[in-house]
Amino acid sequence: MDWNSFLGHERQRAWFRNAIQNNRLASTFLMVGPDGIGKRTFARLIAKTMLCTGSEPSAFAPCCRCEACAQIDASSHPDLIEIARRPDKTSLIMEQLVGEGDRRMREGLCYELRMKPYSGRCKIAIVDDADTIAEEGANSLLKTLEEPPPGSLIFLISTSVQRQLPTIRSRCQMARFQPLTVNSLAQLILRHAYSDNPADALSLAAQASGSMSTVANWTNEELRMFRTELFHQLVQRPLDFTKLAKAVQGNMESVGTDTQPRRERLKVILDFALQFYRSGMELQLNAQSADASDSAAMAQFGHLMSLDSDSFVTAIQRCMAAREHLDRMVSPASLIEAWAADLAVISQA
Ligand SMILES: [Zn+2]
Repeated sequence: MDWNSFLGHERQRAWFRNAIQNNRLASTFLMVGPDGIGKRTFARLIAKTMLCTGSEPSAFAPCCRCEACAQIDASSHPDLIEIARRPDKTSLIMEQLVGEGDRRMREGLCYELRMKPYSGRCKIAIVDDADTIAEEGANSLLKTLEEPPPGSLIFLISTSVQRQLPTIRSRCQMARFQPLTVNSLAQLILRHAYSDNPADALSLAAQASGSMSTVANWTNEELRMFRTELFHQLVQRPLDFTKLAKAVQGNMESVGTDTQPRRERLKVILDFALQFYRSGMELQLNAQSADASDSAAMAQFGHLMSLDSDSFVTAIQRCMAAREHLDRMVSPASLIEAWAADLAVISQA
């Protein structure tokens, strides 16, 4: 991966290029934006730019041929430390930051950052899922954020500023990332072989809210089947909210008993519902111009959707609120029931 093949985020690129060329790069960045838009890849490209031995950082064009570039691609560069939430955990754990048991402060990200750079240039840390750092972990990270080792660079990857503890937020420079454009997303869909047809890629991209994570969910076969079932239920009048809640709960539970995977699944389902109402509203607005980004998945339901535009907006807001509540760890079962019941009321309006 190099800057030429990286899509989007031109403003952030220009900003970082300028900061590197003028030697004004801060130490600690909070990179904020939705999932699946390339924040982590961006941070890794900055790491490549800084650590490439075939090109100076100021050139802002890592060679992608030297050993350092290859090591970064393989996640094996000794000066690049990357951590992310472990799949079976709901948060980043202390051990990842400051080491375990009697190894405390002698391993983990904060310790490794203080080691002398192997390359002689700098140490770089990328903390993915930074939204999930619990308070205890955050406290152990504060000192490192407050006094970063000289020349080190720390990237915290986050989906929401609100989800960051104020103590962390105040110690970082913020870099905001926007969803990808439909054209960029369509190119990525083709590149990653989610589709081999440019027209289909464009249609998929138009529904995916600028995120590759959404593309992956929309193209997953099992999820695709559930989504169709969900859409069928959402167009029913009256909307049978008990049936809807049961179907959603059942699908969420199908991923196992662990809290985190269930939460992730419920988030995907809420996004489907959100997309359903957004597309429905779009179809209604574009009723006269049939050629507008009309999506195959929605077209079959469009004529069944009898909501007025205010109700569309209310339904969209209700889905967004449910998603936010989920982030705040409300019990999923009661969240699903309340959400389904409210949709039933909204759809009667
Ligand atoms: Zn290189």
